[in-house]
Amino acid sequence: MRKLEFRSDTMTRPTTAMRQAMFEAEVGDDVCEEDPTVNKLQEMVAARLGKEAALFVPSGHFGNQCAIGVHTHPGDEVIVSEMTHVVEHEAGASGVLSGVQLRTIEPRHASYITADEIMPRLRIGEDVHFPRSRLIILENALSDGTVMPIAAMAEVKELASQHGLAVHLDGARLFNAALALDVEPRSIAAQSDSVSFCLSKGLGAPVGSVLCGTANFIDRARKRRKVMGGGMRQVGVLAAPGIIALTDGVRRLHEDHENARLLAKLLTRVPGVVLDLRKVQTNMVYIHVETQGKSEDGLVEFLAGRGILTYPPIMWGIRFVTSHEVTADDVRTLAAAIADYLES
Ligand SMILES: *Cc1c(COP(=O)(O)O)cnc(C)c1O
Repeated sequence: MRKLEFRSDTMTRPTTAMRQAMFEAEVGDDVCEEDPTVNKLQEMVAARLGKEAALFVPSGHFGNQCAIGVHTHPGDEVIVSEMTHVVEHEAGASGVLSGVQLRTIEPRHASYITADEIMPRLRIGEDVHFPRSRLIILENALSDGTVMPIAAMAEVKELASQHGLAVHLDGARLFNAALALDVEPRSIAAQSDSVSFCLSKGLGAPVGSVLCGTANFIDRARKRRKVMGGGMRQVGVLAAPGIIALTDGVRRLHEDHENARLLAKLLTRVPGVVLDLRKVQTNMVYIHVETQGKSEDGLVEFLAGRGILTYPPIMWGIRFVTSHEVTADDVRTLAAAIADYLES
């Protein structure tokens, strides 16, 4: 029986067109910048995001850590929301690889940190005790499936430039954010000095992320990528599906948002399900279960019994992620299964 995959958009498998493109890709040695397919991907991305240059990297994690390494020196301080991927899901890499201190902030007004919250945490002026505040990292879209408005990003960018800090955007789901905000991805990218996004999530490529910034930043990032062991040779075989991710993958991405909204709408009619419709902005739906004798762990187990895959609940509840692996019918099947569990 086919499993229904609601765990993550990282689970997406490459399409037939992507596999064909991998087979046919023209390749060369990318460490020597001679892979024509990688060069084409990087040029496409830089143009699309309105940045001078771009660099293909093995993962989103790698892109973030490469950016941190370029923007900082050991002992510098990086300001970041405590809920972000860099803090929660990168295995302490910023300490290990760049020797920086993360100054984490709990977002209080929204899912993201605001300029007002960052301002009092900046180390301004020379003091023998202080690390140097050097970098602010933002995420868009956010891990709870919501997005950060452009105006809020612009305020952070303004604050950073007043005080000589750089801004890096972890845009793993940048194209989802652009859809939700109804803007071009370049309008979001314009609010940061560097930005990375994943080709491998909702866009469907099997591997890879792209890091973008000024030509000078990308030259340094290429060196840093080498230091990190991320110089890859005939990697056009992976850039080729990335190019399809940027065309076909982006073109169909709205379907995932429509399916997430469909799921949320169906679940609002199921007694015992608690969800905040306003937070369903991209391809994720989080729910809590509030029915006597029923639990979130119990629901996850029940769904597994029906071949429906989800991760165990976290603080925000159980997460369901839509992707090209999931159809509107799958969403209806999921909603019906949740109703069955809560009524059983
Ligand atoms: C998925 C993700 C990444 C990168 O993940 P990789 O698995 O390393 O590609 C980075 N940031 C956020 C917010 C993510 O969701």
